[in-house]
Amino acid sequence: MKKNTNNKFSNKSSSILDTCCLELVMTCTAVLPYCDISVVSGARGKTEQDNLFIDGKSELTFPNSLHNVGDEAGRDLSDAVDVVIYHPVYGQLWGGDAQLCRIADDFEVSLVRVRYWFYMQYAQLNMLMQVKARTAGIELRWGGDWNSENGILDQSFDDFYHWEVVRRCSQ
Ligand SMILES: [Zn+2]
Repeated sequence: MKKNTNNKFSNKSSSILDTCCLELVMTCTAVLPYCDISVVSGARGKTEQDNLFIDGKSELTFPNSLHNVGDEAGRDLSDAVDVVIYHPVYGQLWGGDAQLCRIADDFEVSLVRVRYWFYMQYAQLNMLMQVKARTAGIELRWGGDWNSENGILDQSFDDFYHWEVVRRCSQ
């Protein structure tokens, strides 16, 4: 991934990132010059979390997600962040069928090949996130590989846009 110091967070991304813990702010800021990203979710209250659960977009109800803040959750800033890759031509890469079909048409390649490409983009972003975090002594868990073993082969809920801080008991 080429370095581009012109990459900037939008106002929306910045305001969402401001609801996240310092570790995530540092990691996302360090990654930005290497991969243009949009920050799409940080701190969530009860209503937002429970609606995502009902829609099947989260496996957890309030206050059990690390996105959750407030007295019940026991934190004021989000320990989780959702980040989407921002592509210069296609915008936010969510990997929906319409978007992937358009890319397949533009490049005249199969949809399967575009799906490989899509997953590779997020695997690369994860590596960047992990390297930048570890350099600062931060441990991150990725929703594309919850147990940091075997990638998506041993999990039923994939969340490629999600990273969260792992805090050990001693902290
Ligand atoms: Zn998330």
